[in-house]
Amino acid sequence: MGIEIAYDVNGIRFVVAGIGETMAAAPIILAERVTKRFGAHQVLTAVTLPVMERDVVCVVGPSGSGKTTLLRCLALLEAPSEGRIVMQGTTIATPEADRQTKAAARVVRSDIGMVFQHFNLWPHMSVLENVIEAPLRVKGMARDKAIALAETLLAKVDLSDKRDAYPARLSGGQQQRVAIARALAMSPKVLLFDEATSALDPELRREVLLVMRQLAREGMTMLVVTHEMGFARHVGTRTVFMDRGEIVEEAPGAAFFDAPQTERAKRFLQQFEE
Ligand code: ADP
Ligand code: MG
Repeated sequence: MGIEIAYDVNGIRFVVAGIGETMAAAPIILAERVTKRFGAHQVLTAVTLPVMERDVVCVVGPSGSGKTTLLRCLALLEAPSEGRIVMQGTTIATPEADRQTKAAARVVRSDIGMVFQHFNLWPHMSVLENVIEAPLRVKGMARDKAIALAETLLAKVDLSDKRDAYPARLSGGQQQRVAIARALAMSPKVLLFDEATSALDPELRREVLLVMRQLAREGMTMLVVTHEMGFARHVGTRTVFMDRGEIVEEAPGAAFFDAPQTERAKRFLQQFEE
């Protein structure tokens, strides 16, 4: 059994139980002064973004501002040109990762889940096979256990009846919900969403947003790149506004929408009015 720490905040007593350093309030994932260049083109400039446990950080900003690149750096799909990615206190990416960093990255890779704009399901596999693939191959989970887990997750995204269907027979909204179930099957510590609803017709967006909202309510730590201002305002714990490779503004929940501080943010928000 671990240790307990009790402390008072504004007269309210909190008791935190944990084991060793997991108790420390280190961000689940942190981009620390991340700069990214593609050749001479600087796409990110010294971006620092911590994501704490149970945070739902919504990243908004114009097209080309570097949102996807930031997510890809956090997901270890791109290496930063400068700065580093840190997961719960451990460095997992640097410009020229040494052996220790690479080893750390391998250990935590499956703790970082990602949901892309274009679902990226395997077309030759059924829904169930898509969801069990990574637990089987990466985690070495027993097949019956993986199937039981997948069935639970498909029920969670309301797709139990599509278990044996192939992706091509599903709507975009259903495919994206499978992609979410597939990401959840690895029990990630953080889920990164890159415009998960942008490719969907408006009526299909809702069903995906509802699943994302439910995950947020259950305490999933999430970083959500989105154009859904309603989601950012009502579900997000923090909104981060990016422009031209920089974080320009950051505010808790609805505050960004009610009182944007910069001209750039005000101009950006104008396009979503009326
Ligand atoms: P956003 O997701 O905010 O639209 P991106 O991160 O996709 O922005 O892109 C930011 C900038 O980086 C764009 O100018 C884009 O053309 C450029 N970019 C992204 N990926 C690459 C790449 N692999 N090679 C060269 N340039 C890239
Ligand atoms: Mg993008």
